[in-house]
Amino acid sequence: MSDTIFAKIISGEIPSEFIYEDEHCVAINDINPQAPVHVLVIPRKPITQLSAAQAEDQALLGHLLLAANTVAKQLGVDEAYRLLINNGEGVGMTVYHLHLHILAGRTMAEAQLAQGLDA
Ligand code: 5GP
Repeated sequence: MSDTIFAKIISGEIPSEFIYEDEHCVAINDINPQAPVHVLVIPRKPITQLSAAQAEDQALLGHLLLAANTVAKQLGVDEAYRLLINNGEGVGMTVYHLHLHILAGRTMAEAQLAQGLDA
């Protein structure tokens, strides 16, 4: 299977600024932000999507949540932020390398309005 864009970003093949990184994950600003703060937390391990995660990934999944909170604190938005994981094409997943979206700076209703969706 060919590497996804996120695998290439993690390996450095595609240059990108890591706003956070540790042994298990990196965080980058989303290229097409849907909120004033829109960051992606991506595990170094190329799990395709949440439904492909295994019991052995339990600690990593917990780590990603804590890393997301660390990033939110670093960005000064830990008082109010949303985490989102798309799982599957039917909900608009486009990059098949698990990632958490950190969204902050506007409410879900405002985001839906901006996309022309009913709340
Ligand atoms: P998904 O829809 O799969 O949950 O989210 C993929 C996200 O990755 C999208 O929000 C999209 O804007 C972002 N994205 C896609 N390609 C790139 C890229 O090359 N760089 C960055 N920083 N974000 C990307």
